[in-house]
Amino acid sequence: MPETRPLTDLVAIPPVINVGLNAARQSTMLSLLGNPRNNYTDDCQAVEHPGLKRLIVLKDLGIFKVRGLAPAVDSLERVLGDIRVRAPHVHQALGSAGMLCARLVRGSATSISNHSWGTAIDLTLNGELDRRGDGKVQVGLTQISPIFNDHGWFWGAAFRTEDAMHFEAGDGMIRKWHADGLLGGAGGGTAPVDDLLTMGDRGPEVSTLQTRLNVFGAGLEVDGVFGTGTRAAVVAFQRSKGLTADGVVGPKTREALGF
Ligand SMILES: [Zn+2]
Repeated sequence: MPETRPLTDLVAIPPVINVGLNAARQSTMLSLLGNPRNNYTDDCQAVEHPGLKRLIVLKDLGIFKVRGLAPAVDSLERVLGDIRVRAPHVHQALGSAGMLCARLVRGSATSISNHSWGTAIDLTLNGELDRRGDGKVQVGLTQISPIFNDHGWFWGAAFRTEDAMHFEAGDGMIRKWHADGLLGGAGGGTAPVDDLLTMGDRGPEVSTLQTRLNVFGAGLEVDGVFGTGTRAAVVAFQRSKGLTADGVVGPKTREALGF
């Protein structure tokens, strides 16, 4: 029973998670919220983009305080309220290991972490962090991930390098905030956002892209990380099909790849 088992016990990643959800794409974040900084390291640095700074709030959510993007913090408050009702034993054990933090994805030289926009949070259970990349997850996290998913949050357990402590506002939710006028034009434009996959993206959607490129002979490792090798394969594919060879996967390239 969940009530008697330690919440930090490690179990396998549940087979069905994040149904209908995508991690927030770099192109979505950059076009709708702007670039938080001009440069990044592995360490947390301050947000410099003025339009984004205006959207950052500090809020006491009862069990912990967070600093993050206003609509993300509001949504997180509703998620925690739901967890308090549906999984109270997990709720009382939850802690925060940080929300806003402008940095690269750990282990990456190209991916800007979604913590940089304050739309992701890392959680602890009884003060313990789930160890990243071991393919196992704290059992308490499996009890709250469906609740996060219900609210449009993507669970980091699905990343190629499992990151089960990590939850982030999914791509659809970011777009909805934009459509609802909650982002205050931070991205500086109102251009429609295609489903673009670009260098720096990661997650199951990138694995699908790599698998499709391999059908056309790319020979990529399917690691779910859109790095320089994947970009080069996209450019080569686009050239071979007479498409604009920009390394960005938009509707035409998707169609040509058949996904
Ligand atoms: Zn995280």
